[in-house]
Amino acid sequence: MAASIAIVGAGFSGSALALGLRVHAQSDVTLHLFDRSGRFGPGLAYHPASPAHLLNVPAARMSAFPDQPDDFLDWLRAQPGMEGTAAGAFAPRAAYGAYLSERLRAGVAARDGARLQIRGDQVTEIARSGGGYALTLATGGTLAANIVVLALGNEPPMPPAELNLLVGTPVWGGDAWSAAALQALDPDSPVLLVGTSLTMVDVVISLLDAGHRGPIHAISRRGLLPRAHRAPPVPPATLPTPLPPHVLELTQILRAQVAAGQPWHAVVDGLRPHTQALWEAMDATEQGRFLRHARAWWDVHRHRMAAEVAVRIEAARATGQLRVHAGRIVAASPAGRAATITWRPRGRDETERLTAGRVIACTGPAADIRRSTNPLVLDLLRRGLGRPDPLGLGLDVSADAELRDATGGIATGLFAIGPLTRGRWWEITSVPDIRVQAARLAQRLATLTPQMRPVARAPATQKLRAAG
Ligand SMILES: Cc1cc2nc3c(=O)[nH]c(=O)nc-3n(C[C@H](O)[C@H](O)[C@H](O)COP(=O)(O)OP(=O)(O)OC[C@H]3O[C@@H](n4cnc5c(N)ncnc54)[C@H](O)[C@@H]3O)c2cc1C
Repeated sequence: MAASIAIVGAGFSGSALALGLRVHAQSDVTLHLFDRSGRFGPGLAYHPASPAHLLNVPAARMSAFPDQPDDFLDWLRAQPGMEGTAAGAFAPRAAYGAYLSERLRAGVAARDGARLQIRGDQVTEIARSGGGYALTLATGGTLAANIVVLALGNEPPMPPAELNLLVGTPVWGGDAWSAAALQALDPDSPVLLVGTSLTMVDVVISLLDAGHRGPIHAISRRGLLPRAHRAPPVPPATLPTPLPPHVLELTQILRAQVAAGQPWHAVVDGLRPHTQALWEAMDATEQGRFLRHARAWWDVHRHRMAAEVAVRIEAARATGQLRVHAGRIVAASPAGRAATITWRPRGRDETERLTAGRVIACTGPAADIRRSTNPLVLDLLRRGLGRPDPLGLGLDVSADAELRDATGGIATGLFAIGPLTRGRWWEITSVPDIRVQAARLAQRLATLTPQMRPVARAPATQKLRAAG
């Protein structure tokens, strides 16, 4: 037996990496792919929800593998009733989850390449051990691995503290993906969605599909809604290079392109190949400036709605059922089976009130890794095996995606992938970006394993706790 690699998290990031490694690594390498949910492939984004929840990237750009660009489209067209799917169509997200699960099942069954094992377990602790790492599992076991890759995904949303009084009451729906969000909801009850991003759009679609009749309020500081994809799409614009890594100058360049007649969709798409390099070239002050002043605008133009979804959202606004507010929540108090929400409209001093029978957090992933709710992240930070990136968006990683420990040194053999590496690359949240990261990391890890010997068996859990 030779090296073993543990991948923690089997959403898109962990799955794409495992599938790439299976092909590239030697046949005597064992890959252990863990997911605490017991689901392998869908992760948070693509678990079977409403069929009306669509991908926000056209099917032709959603292959899990950059070197096989049609893999998802071909798979989709082979599904019953999907034969005629257009390359530019926005497929159901659940279908994408099924695609990833099927690819993983085939990977587990394959007889060639490295051995892939899937394990429905939560990794709670990781410690250095015997030249590799020892993983503690929630079910009580341990695993020794030469290499560990963290593919833990996004943090759950952290709604404003002003809503704390509602938590635990029947009004509180929790975060948009929790089972409680829409449970036992009176169809005539007013609903408040906190956040106006694509998550809010998903919840509105779910409410409409469930026949909800009551008003739906959505609030965020600026009240900006994601824009719609253009149909038919336009090719990305070629932007003048080199682009300056400065928010103000970049904004001026983009505006000038639009003023010169380029569709904004083309301008935004033209910037995408440069975003990771621009982010890396910015210092922490400039990155902070982007987060404060430009991020909200960038997000709504960059993360767009499928055109058919946008039509439904616009229709709900036109009837007055969906009301989008720009402002801040200043207080919330439960009142029987409802809650009174006090909010201050943007740019005004006086407050307004609204009543909601359900409040749902659609605020997007929490922005501070130090307040993670994932026990494994807290364990890594506590042990000093990892540290937050300078903005706390994720974990600090090297150019090779290896974690930096508390002293800034490289935690050799311990890697991260996907949204956890946002602090380093920023634009590393969607499939077209993560699949490139996964393919590169798979190739790199495959070159490391031939020199590796199996690590000694992991020590008992008590000893592991003491190890650093
Ligand atoms: C609702 C939604 C819709 C999206 N739609 C699109 C889209 O249409 N197109 C696109 O390109 N991008 C989309 N994205 C963005 C992108 O695809 C996702 O962010 C990406 O899938 C991230 O995958 P991930 O594997 O890193 O994270 P996740 O999908 O969050 O998966 C992480 C996994 O890790 C597991 N896990 C966490 N901690 C542990 C632990 N300690 N032990 C074991 N398991 C653990 C979790 O159970 C989870 O399954 C969407 C994102 C969201 C949230």
